[in-house]
Amino acid sequence: MDNRPCVLHCHSHFSDGSFAPALIALKAMDIGLRAICLTDHDTVAGQAEFHYACARLGLDFLPALEITTHLLGEEIHLIAVGVDLHRAKELDQFLTPNNAVHAYREQQYWQKFHNAGLITDDLATVKGKLGFPAKFAFKYHWDDYRVRFCGIDPATANAETRQGGVAFVPATKQNYVPTLQTIDFIHQLGGLAIYAHPGSTVKGAPELFGQILETLIAAGLDGIEVFHPKNTEPNDFMAIAQHYHLLVSGGSDNHGRFTPKLSLAERSITYDQFLLIKDQLK
Ligand SMILES: [Zn+2]
Ligand SMILES: [Zn+2]
Repeated sequence: MDNRPCVLHCHSHFSDGSFAPALIALKAMDIGLRAICLTDHDTVAGQAEFHYACARLGLDFLPALEITTHLLGEEIHLIAVGVDLHRAKELDQFLTPNNAVHAYREQQYWQKFHNAGLITDDLATVKGKLGFPAKFAFKYHWDDYRVRFCGIDPATANAETRQGGVAFVPATKQNYVPTLQTIDFIHQLGGLAIYAHPGSTVKGAPELFGQILETLIAAGLDGIEVFHPKNTEPNDFMAIAQHYHLLVSGGSDNHGRFTPKLSLAERSITYDQFLLIKDQLK
């Protein structure tokens, strides 16, 4: 039995986290993780740096990303693990709709702040000042910009981009890639599809959850994120994993200093559970 902790969900500054991939690997080693996956939103741009650092530090890892999809009117996040990074170009091509959503959303954030007279910099200047390699400015980036460059306190900045806030940008779910097509595509790239934070679906659409789950299983879903800060009932998801013979995953969904109350090691799985996922990829 190997119970050493593993985290299969976190974000770097290549999407909406604040840390460099190599720094995440260092932190993972410091807190005693045995394996870790970096799961940036809709990009594998940080994977090479991350894998190099993990290998140097003796951490086990798998290539991974988190893909935003839509099914039955709901936003469903899939963790793709073990995808062939030599096919990153095909992956980028597949994710064109998602990149278009991210580009649209950052423009919307900028427009709303600009219209409210709260931001005078143009979008390119905002992104230049933020200084992250992420292609798009996500919610956390706008909060960070307001704190660092406009002198707004973090709680107020967070409220501005939340529902009811002056710069809230509503979700545009139906424009993301379709979930079932994404599961197929992950399989084509040699990877496994894991249903990320099912707790957020249950919360948003409890009556739909069963239908969504059955649809995902029929489409060849490989695993479920039993452990995640948004899953208030992990036992329910563990029962689902056992019933449907799904791989068990978990992770903190840490975003660096953008999620200051969340330890990187939270909601980990065991190394034995990680190895079941790894073996499935062989
Ligand atoms: Zn997610
Ligand atoms: Zn995430």
